[in-house]
Amino acid sequence: MLAKDLGERKLIDKVFSTAKKAREAMVTFGEENVVNATIGSLYDENGKLVVLNTAMEVFRELPAEELAGYASSFTGAPEYNESVKISLFGRDYKNFFNGHHLEVIATPGGTGAISNSIKNYLNYGDTILLPKWLWSPYILMAKEKNGSCDFYTLFNRENKFDLKDFEMRVEKLANKQDNVVIIINDPCQNPTGYRLSIEEWKEIRKILISASKLANIILILDVAYIDFDDRNNEEKKEYFEIFKNLPENILTIFTFSLSKSLTCYGMRVGAQVALSTSKKVIEEFYDANSFSCRSTWSNISRGGMKMFSNIILDEKKSAQLEKEREFYRNLIKERADIFLTEAKECNLEVLPYVSGFFLTIPTGEYTPKVEELLEKNHIYTVVLDEGIRIAVCSVTKKKISGLAKRIKSIIDEA
Ligand code: PLP
Repeated sequence: MLAKDLGERKLIDKVFSTAKKAREAMVTFGEENVVNATIGSLYDENGKLVVLNTAMEVFRELPAEELAGYASSFTGAPEYNESVKISLFGRDYKNFFNGHHLEVIATPGGTGAISNSIKNYLNYGDTILLPKWLWSPYILMAKEKNGSCDFYTLFNRENKFDLKDFEMRVEKLANKQDNVVIIINDPCQNPTGYRLSIEEWKEIRKILISASKLANIILILDVAYIDFDDRNNEEKKEYFEIFKNLPENILTIFTFSLSKSLTCYGMRVGAQVALSTSKKVIEEFYDANSFSCRSTWSNISRGGMKMFSNIILDEKKSAQLEKEREFYRNLIKERADIFLTEAKECNLEVLPYVSGFFLTIPTGEYTPKVEELLEKNHIYTVVLDEGIRIAVCSVTKKKISGLAKRIKSIIDEA
């Protein structure tokens, strides 16, 4: 009975099914004997979900009508949209982006931001360009437009961003499509934890400018985990400089997520932040994307937006939030350091991790066997096409210790 253009549809979410197996194993074998490295949310050293105090204090103070009422606009409350710009680019963003056009649309999470962007810019049946190691819902979102996917390899032999491969794929699509929609998840790439260097970004910039002579370029920059990256404000400025003064037919859409920035996953708040040198492009962005908001989810959580703006527009609360996040950023770093040091000691290959919630071990064709053996040893990870993802955001230091060596011997056995 399904509409004909949908084809066959069935959502197989391996993350949730593996997490379920891990929970069952904990009941059978005892919690201390099971490693559940599947969970993509931040957990503390007691194995509990982290909920940032600053966020909850502000949320609890909100009057009932702020929680229950509809949002004041389909595109987000003005103070929320302002807060997203401040949070992402800093308080001096107007000065920094002088001469540019910037527009924010509030969405249900980063998921809503990415899907709204794909919906409005990927021509029906076209190919989207995605990283080979990726957060897989991007593929589902492209399928909603009957789109197919091409994948840039992400890493070259030196374990740096493979610029040659990226350039070749962008050019190929620019030669055959009017719009080339590209997703880059940076910093804290899910699943690898990679962060592109400024030099790599400068080269990407050149590639996009060159391709823009052939086609419109829509760069969806998934910055979901940006607040868990450890770059300072100066370094962040250098990063955002990359997206300034681009040709008018290059549109950058930063997709932002409160799930990660405030550890409020279930609140479902996020945003699309569009940047362009062209007023017309940004007006068109606003018109088309607000149309999609109205036709898809109408508006998003009023309380979620208010909670964020009450923090960000208050410098003291904002500093308190940053301090709390810094604590957890350091915790994740400690966990990742333990894993990476031990991996080096036992020659376990890990894809180049810099920061973020996850790291990845490439396991190639042995992946199904590795998965089977890991489960036998009560280790549960997210199994990718050619690797396994370890969520350093949720596994305690105690359980991370020794994990690399255990995984190495399992891979050797496979
Ligand atoms: N982008 C990446 C890379 C993610 O891993 C996630 C969530 O796991 C999201 C975007 C979207 O998250 P949400 O919709 O909860 O904001």
